[in-house]
Amino acid sequence: MKKLSELVFNNTYSALPKSFGTFIKPQPLDDPFLVSVNNRVSQMLELDPAQAHTQYFVDLFTGNDEHPAMAPLAMKYTGHQFGQYNPDLGDGRGLLMGEVLTSSGQKWDIHLKGSGLTPYSRQGDGRAVLRSSIREYLASAAMAGLGIKTTHALAVLSSNTPVFRETIERGATLIRVAESHLRFGHFEYLFYTQRHAELKQLADYLITHHFPDIDTQQDRTSRYSQMFSKIVSLTAEMIADWQAVGFAHGVMNTDNMSVLGLTFDYGPYGFLDDYEPDFICNHSDYSGRYAFNQQPSIALWNLSALGYALTPLLNKEQLDLALEQYQPILQQAYSRNMRNKLGLKKKLEEDTPLFSAMFDILKAQAVDYSRFFRTLSSIPHRELKTSSYLFENLLNDTAPLEVWLAMYSQRLKKESLADDDRLDLMRSSNPKFILRNYLAQQAIELAEKGDFSMIDQLLTVLQHPFEEHPEFDAFAKRPPEWGKKLEISCSS
Ligand code: AMP
Ligand code: MG
Repeated sequence: MKKLSELVFNNTYSALPKSFGTFIKPQPLDDPFLVSVNNRVSQMLELDPAQAHTQYFVDLFTGNDEHPAMAPLAMKYTGHQFGQYNPDLGDGRGLLMGEVLTSSGQKWDIHLKGSGLTPYSRQGDGRAVLRSSIREYLASAAMAGLGIKTTHALAVLSSNTPVFRETIERGATLIRVAESHLRFGHFEYLFYTQRHAELKQLADYLITHHFPDIDTQQDRTSRYSQMFSKIVSLTAEMIADWQAVGFAHGVMNTDNMSVLGLTFDYGPYGFLDDYEPDFICNHSDYSGRYAFNQQPSIALWNLSALGYALTPLLNKEQLDLALEQYQPILQQAYSRNMRNKLGLKKKLEEDTPLFSAMFDILKAQAVDYSRFFRTLSSIPHRELKTSSYLFENLLNDTAPLEVWLAMYSQRLKKESLADDDRLDLMRSSNPKFILRNYLAQQAIELAEKGDFSMIDQLLTVLQHPFEEHPEFDAFAKRPPEWGKKLEISCSS
C-alpha cells in the first residue's frame, strides 16, 4: 500500500490534442475536512486507506495543495440532453486529476467533482454540495456491491465554503475513480465540430487503452465496427443489470453515458421501492423521458446518437449491424438476471407466463420490489405453496400470489438444481439491502449536522448487500410513506 505521494501516474488523456480539454487547477474550498473514505476503492488504487486521514489528502482533494504527478484537466465533451443537442458541455465542475497506474498495470482515472469553475461551467458555480456528493458516494458503492458496472468513489470531503442552491449548503468534493471518464459525448463533440482526424484519434485511444483484444493492425472498418459493437453490448449488459435490480438513473443524457458501460454520473437516481414500472425518479423530468421502463429504449436512442457521431469512421450498414445486436443482448442478459432471481437455471418456453404473472401481481399491488424477491429467496420448495402468509406485509391480497406460488412450485420441479443451491443462487441474486432514497436522505441529514456515522454504516451493508448483517436489519425494512415521496431534483 502506497502513500499518496508514492502513487504512480500515467496521464494518457492529457497527452491527447489541446482540443480535448483545458488544463486548469481546482479552486480551494475553505476549512476542508474528510467526510468518508471507501477503503475498498483505496485498495483498488493500492493507496493506503490511512492516507485519507492526512492533511495532505484533504488539502489535495479540495484544491488547497498539489501533487507533482497530477495534471488537472477539464475534459471537453458535448451531448444530447433530454433529446436536444447541447454543444456547450464539458467538465463544468470536475477535473480529471490524473491516471493512476497500479503494479498490475491497471489504470484508474482520478476525477475530482466539485472542484470549481472551468471554461465549461456555463452559468454554474463549479461546485458540488455535500448532499449530492454523499448520494453519488453511496450509490457508487451500492452498485459495485450489487456487481453492477459503475464508476467508484474514493472519498467525500466537505468544507465551510457556502454553496447556493435552493438553500445555502456546504461545498464538497467527491473523488471519482473509474477505468475511464470517456462518454458518448466526447465523440459527439469531435463529430459536431468536424474534427474528424481527432475523432479517429479518440477511437484509437479507446481501443488501445480499453479494448485491448481488438487487433489494431486490422483495417479501420473492422476495428471501429468492433469498437462500436463493444459499446453496444456493454451498454445492453448495463441496462439489463439496472432493470433487474430496479435502478433508475434519472438523467440518461448522452454526456452521462460511459463508453465502457459503467453506470455514470449519479444525480437524481432512485432504486425502486414499490414496483412501479413507470417510476420517474427525477422531479425535473416532466415528460417521463427517463422513467424506469424507458431506460432500455433510451439507451438505444443514445447509442444511435453515438453511432451518428461515428459516421466519419463507419458506414450506415456497419452501424446498423452493431445497433441490431442491442435488443438481443439486452434480452438475453435481462432474462439471465431474472432467472437467477427466481433460482431458475433452465430456460423454458413456459417461463414467459410465469414472469408476466409475477410482474402483474407486483404492479397491481405496488409490491416492494426488493423485499418480494428476498422473501422468496428464503422459502424451501416444499413450503412454497403454503408460504403466502410470509408476504402479508407486502401485499393487500395474497390470493393471486397463492396461484402464482403454485405455478412457481410446479416450474421448480423441472429444475435439476438442489433446493439449497437454488436458495443460495437466489440469495446471491436478490439483495437484502438496496440504497433506498430515504436511507440516503437520513444519512445526509445527519452528515449536515456533522455526524457521518450512518454513511459508514450504509457503506458496510451496501458493499455486501447479499449478506444478512442482522445488526443492520433496520436498513432492510420497507420505507416509511414519507420516504417513498421524497423529491429529488437535478439540483446538485
Ligand atoms: P449533469 O446534469 O450533472 O450531468 O451536468 C451537465 C453539465 O452541466 C455538465 O457539463 C456539468 O459539468 C455541468 N454542471 C452541472 N452542475 C454544474 C455546476 N454547479 N457548475 C458548473 N457546471 C455544472
Ligand atoms: Mg453529467
